[in-house]
Amino acid sequence: MHRNIQGELSRFSFDLYDLLEEAKSIVPGVISSAVSIWILGHASLLAFIEIGDVEKKIVLHPLLNHPDTPLEVIRFILIHELIHIVIPSVEIEGRQLDHPDSFWALEKQLVPERALYWAWMYIH
Ligand SMILES: [Zn+2]
Repeated sequence: MHRNIQGELSRFSFDLYDLLEEAKSIVPGVISSAVSIWILGHASLLAFIEIGDVEKKIVLHPLLNHPDTPLEVIRFILIHELIHIVIPSVEIEGRQLDHPDSFWALEKQLVPERALYWAWMYIH
């Protein structure tokens, strides 16, 4: 059973929770995490994840919520956000680093073609 998307209605051409399951199977160690997806416009980021003890929330920006948005881009974004669960931010000299080197290394390993998706997001 798929939970409803919170916030805006999904306008994607695919099922977000099917895609989330696929992304979870790609990122080691997140399969049992309870993750919900929200489409909310209050952030300046295209996407981010809130990591609570019980539930994790992935928040997508309404700019992404369009039938023409490629499935591959959203799958990449979901994988990126799920990696945040297994590689938490680190504090270096009092500054919080959300994407330590090990984060980018794992992302590159799991999604070797990721530069394509960053390019798509930059252009659109
Ligand atoms: Zn990130």
